Amino acid sequence: MCKMIKSSFACPVCGKTLTYNEKSYYCKNNHCFDISKKGYVNLLLSNRMNAKNPGDNKLMVRSRTGFLNKGFYEPLLKALGGAVCRYARTGDVIIDAGCGEGYYTAGVKKILEENGIETVIAGIDISKNALGTAAKRDGEIEYAAGSVFHLPLKDSSCDMLMTVFAPYCGEEFRRALKKGGVMVMVIPDKNHLWQLKEAVYDQPYLNEVKDTELEGFDFVEKLCVREKIQLECQKDIQDLFNMTPYCYNTSSEGRERLAALDSLETEIEFDILIYRR
Ligand SMILES: [Zn+2]
Repeated sequence: MCKMIKSSFACPVCGKTLTYNEKSYYCKNNHCFDISKKGYVNLLLSNRMNAKNPGDNKLMVRSRTGFLNKGFYEPLLKALGGAVCRYARTGDVIIDAGCGEGYYTAGVKKILEENGIETVIAGIDISKNALGTAAKRDGEIEYAAGSVFHLPLKDSSCDMLMTVFAPYCGEEFRRALKKGGVMVMVIPDKNHLWQLKEAVYDQPYLNEVKDTELEGFDFVEKLCVREKIQLECQKDIQDLFNMTPYCYNTSSEGRERLAALDSLETEIEFDILIYRR
């Protein structure tokens, strides 16, 4: 018998605690989920999937990984890690809901460790393409394929939820968070990527910024991250474009204008919002 480790995740079928060894996850009702070769567990039930391979596609994941690995969003990672450190305590369970390719999950874990805060951090995303990259980035982090609308988590099981540019499901996040637990949300602010939008749109628009109030949560504070980044080659420009929603609604003229650029300086602007359940 190999050693079974308690998972941060819950069985998506019956909701019981999961334990795992190097091969599979089990609940006490004997529901079993194998760990994929890429290192994450699939807890996404096929009857809850509305596409065969849901979530971000390979191109988007590859572009975002390339872009993030170059450190263009490092100012955000540092600010996010700093914020998490101020609210997290040793022993906390932190879930990155909609973790993508794990850039922030692994980055925040490293910052917590550097600050001597020992937590359990795990990531959930619907895109298996993204999770393969995430598990490769940090093999010590538990990653599961799952939906933020049906988180594979027990009620009141986590101390902190991170939601970084990910879909938000208030009801589900409130269910998974302990009372008094913290939600850290990252959203783009109004001027985010303004110059990229100027390049591709005839009439660029400011990002809509919603009211900070969220039902069932107390708003605690907002931190703003503002920088200018300088992209010096077409690859970086295209990688950035491919990771934005703009790549879905840009005209061929807009794409041509973007393809003709040698460099692009653009603002990045994020809000880190802290809530307490
Ligand atoms: Zn089960």
